[in-house]
Amino acid sequence: MGKHSPVVIAPAYMESFQCIGSNCEETCCKGWTITIDKQTYKKYRTIEIRELRDKIKTSVVLTEDASNADNYAKIKLEEDGSCSFLDDKKLCSIQGKLGASYLSKTCHIYPRTLTRKNDEISLYASLSCPEVARKALLDVEAMRMTHITLPYPNENAVPLSTSMRYSENYPDLLVALSSYIVDTSSFVLRFPAYRSAEAMIVLGLMVQKLSQFLNAPDAESAKNAIIERLIQFTDPHFLTQAGEFAQGITIDRSKQIILLRGVLRIYFSKHQPHSSFKQVMLDMVAGIQFDDSDIEATEKRYFEADSKWFKPFDEAHPHLLKNYLLNDLGKNNFPIGKMRGLETEFIDLAVRYSLIKMILVGIAAFKKENFSEQDYVTVIYTFSRNIEHNLKFMPELLELLAEDGLSNIAAATLMMR
Ligand code: SF4
Repeated sequence: MGKHSPVVIAPAYMESFQCIGSNCEETCCKGWTITIDKQTYKKYRTIEIRELRDKIKTSVVLTEDASNADNYAKIKLEEDGSCSFLDDKKLCSIQGKLGASYLSKTCHIYPRTLTRKNDEISLYASLSCPEVARKALLDVEAMRMTHITLPYPNENAVPLSTSMRYSENYPDLLVALSSYIVDTSSFVLRFPAYRSAEAMIVLGLMVQKLSQFLNAPDAESAKNAIIERLIQFTDPHFLTQAGEFAQGITIDRSKQIILLRGVLRIYFSKHQPHSSFKQVMLDMVAGIQFDDSDIEATEKRYFEADSKWFKPFDEAHPHLLKNYLLNDLGKNNFPIGKMRGLETEFIDLAVRYSLIKMILVGIAAFKKENFSEQDYVTVIYTFSRNIEHNLKFMPELLELLAEDGLSNIAAATLMMR
């Protein structure tokens, strides 16, 4: 390990990101489980400021999983879902009175994610923070990769979310070739001639081709075949042809409406959306005038909203959704983030992308000529806070889609157009 402040690779928006504190329209923690690691919990027991010590006694409780040092205790939230330690300016009173060294691991690092792969550490941030969403989505250059020096004395002090070491001879081919796969995926998403939808369809095609070889018995020839396919997907001539194919795919509105209905059904029956996301969903429903008893009319309104309000705006601002996708690949360590296999990792992303797009179509129908870049920021940060931070929702939705035969790349392709 080096003795100097570590230099990491990060998207350019991380150079200028700073928490905007009390000017933020949300707080980091509203409605979430705020975990306290064991070391911080012990430190809290030594606090001498009486007001804070009393608050800790009543508001910091051990979890059922106290054997896990990172998930040792949690903060009991206020009735409105906010953290009990926020002061009247919506700022953290622990940090205000004792400094950042008293923050738990979770609070210290949010919204950042630091991941180590072999000798390289990468830094991304979660778009659930509205300020991150503004920085990462609005600037055409936001996802240009750069190097940043971290404010830690050495690499040992970096609070990594995950750390992996592997070589190209690692027995699991997906892990062994993961860096090539993510680099090629990023190349496809950045291909200038594509809008986000074409890029995702071509990426789906690539995932389908690679998946044929991942479990092949002869690992050496499978590896060569995968590398050959990856090289093909960096050839601009091939990508241009693949993009034309993607544009020719017929849009299946009924599958898109099934997906939207599934989301509305699961979300509003089982989960408690925060007020900002609830408002987004209500505006979306009002925009499409969602009518469960007349799907054909709903489809027609959705089609009109897409072609009249959403598509022209999105064509003029292709970086907005592309930046969302690029950030997701990096932050979630695609394609090995959750070790669910290449297809599942892709389908998870494809379904979330399709949902965001559909919500945006509804918002565009609601806002009409006032539809703006700010709507992308609001939809994406509220979606991320409510859907991506909810550990149960996506597995439930993917299960529901599987029951309807929609949890595969072919179906995902029809939803993304
Ligand atoms: S959500 Fe982001 S900008 Fe808002 S308080 Fe948290 S870190 Fe700061």
